Amino acid sequence: MMFKTHMAAGLLVAVVALNFVSPEKQLLFAFLLLIGAAFPDIDHPKSRMGQMFWPIAYLFEHRGFFHSFFAIVIFPVMFFLLSGSLVYSVGFLLGYASHIFTDLLTTQGVMPFHPLLKFKLRGFMHTGAYYEYALFFVLIAVSIFVLLVL
Ligand SMILES: [Zn+2]
Repeated sequence: MMFKTHMAAGLLVAVVALNFVSPEKQLLFAFLLLIGAAFPDIDHPKSRMGQMFWPIAYLFEHRGFFHSFFAIVIFPVMFFLLSGSLVYSVGFLLGYASHIFTDLLTTQGVMPFHPLLKFKLRGFMHTGAYYEYALFFVLIAVSIFVLLVL
């Protein structure tokens, strides 16, 4: 999935989840959720996160451990231990999970139990295909609808 699609999926998760977050925490919650939605591609040298933290991108296989179900748990728990905030950690977790589940839709797929098992779960979408752009616009439109109407 493209960066923008991960952000759009994160946005949709954020506008729904914000209903359960107190108003004074909503801005940072949404920001950390979007950071979580970008974070897993830290293992890709050409991604925005991978360029910022390039040694990680060269040490880890793309869509390996950072895209596993283990990582969905481990990194938000680490975030919680560092921040001490359950609300913001849940935001990071929701963003992280949205990234992994949108990557599951692609033909490249993810290895949910990497590095223990290397079997892949995969979908039908090709990253950057016209229908990914369609998905991007649908995610944005539904996010705006949820934000304004619900
Ligand atoms: Zn990814």
